[in-house]
Amino acid sequence: MSFTSLGLSESLLKAVRQQGYSEPSPIQQKAIPRILEGKDVLASAQTGTGKTAGFTLPMLQLLSQSASGRHRPVRALVLTPTRELAAQVEASVKQYGAYLSLKSMVMFGGVGQHPQVQGLKRGVDVLIATPGRLLDLHQQGLLSLSQVEILVLDEADRMLDMGFLRDIKKILALLPSKRQNLLFSATFSPEIKDLARGFMHRPVLVEA
Ligand code: AMP
Repeated sequence: MSFTSLGLSESLLKAVRQQGYSEPSPIQQKAIPRILEGKDVLASAQTGTGKTAGFTLPMLQLLSQSASGRHRPVRALVLTPTRELAAQVEASVKQYGAYLSLKSMVMFGGVGQHPQVQGLKRGVDVLIATPGRLLDLHQQGLLSLSQVEILVLDEADRMLDMGFLRDIKKILALLPSKRQNLLFSATFSPEIKDLARGFMHRPVLVEA
């Protein structure tokens, strides 16, 4: 299978070509078309399977297909367990979105909040964040999540292992009910299944 058969736009295919990928990985082949259809997707994928491109490419395409308002609210939210992963995902969003005019930003704790607040003011289409700082800025009234169209929980099992379940539930309550949900996890414990049942809408299951 080739990247061109997945339904991705020319701008994204050009960015993929620049990465030198010859064909989509199994998780990309299975997840990308379903995400482009607007389905909720529950994906079982380890790091190293190409999962990041598996959600980033279709997410960018969906966002670029519909215009953003003048104020550029956050339209896609990617939650990750760690700062390092948040930064890696943001780097991928920037690479794959090189030929689109979407703005992305990473937000995590342990650093000053001022640059993140300034970034939000300039407008952010895709926000990649760890749960704690996100809730913190929201509680201060500095961040609106009312226009989120796509939610991604990346490495959901690690997020639960790190004790983020309560924060995730709080964040879910701040999002509009009509949205697309994507959950990527290396393992599917009863806790992950429970979480997914609680917020996903008829998810399609895909495995790497
Ligand atoms: P991930 O599983 O998202 O952490 O990705 C692991 C690595 O695979 C990253 O370095 C990607 O750049 C690379 N990668 C992603 N998709 C492909 C692909 N289709 N072909 C070759 N490498 C890929």
